[in-house]
Amino acid sequence: MAEALKIVLYPDPRLRKPSTAIKQFTPELRELADAMLALMREYHGVGLAAPQIGKNIRLFVMNATGKPEDDKIYVNPVLIEAEDDDEAEEGCLSIPELRVKVVRAKRLQLDAQDLEGKPIHEVADGFVARIWQHEADHLNGVLLTDRMGAVAKITNRGLLKDLEEQYRRKTGGK
Ligand SMILES: [Zn+2]
Repeated sequence: MAEALKIVLYPDPRLRKPSTAIKQFTPELRELADAMLALMREYHGVGLAAPQIGKNIRLFVMNATGKPEDDKIYVNPVLIEAEDDDEAEEGCLSIPELRVKVVRAKRLQLDAQDLEGKPIHEVADGFVARIWQHEADHLNGVLLTDRMGAVAKITNRGLLKDLEEQYRRKTGGK
């Protein structure tokens, strides 16, 4: 698997496809997750979901602090029991330069599996809970552009149009 991963950019349709559950916990899955963590770090991101590298499978990686020991990998994540709302600014590696305020649950639980298929159950609030929700959105084909308010839509119209134009040029004008 020497193939170099690249970040898929808005409005690539692969970002819109709901991802499928992972059933096989292979060494390749671990390699993929490690490569995603490396790519996330290279771009100074705090999270990266598999659709963002063009793979529509239910996997995301994150690191909320930047410390190597805080690398996290979640397979087949499900968010449950959300409590309270909180608004904060978010960005996305697939939509460079977009920064928008998004309302998310302040605190919630996550059920997932690790790379061996063992169950994970965690509770988080604040920044970690926000990353979970952002990355889980990616697995359902949901983007920041769906979460932003009417004013942000107008403010960022130019930025999104530029990305759409770049995508059209890259893919040969569809
Ligand atoms: Zn994102």
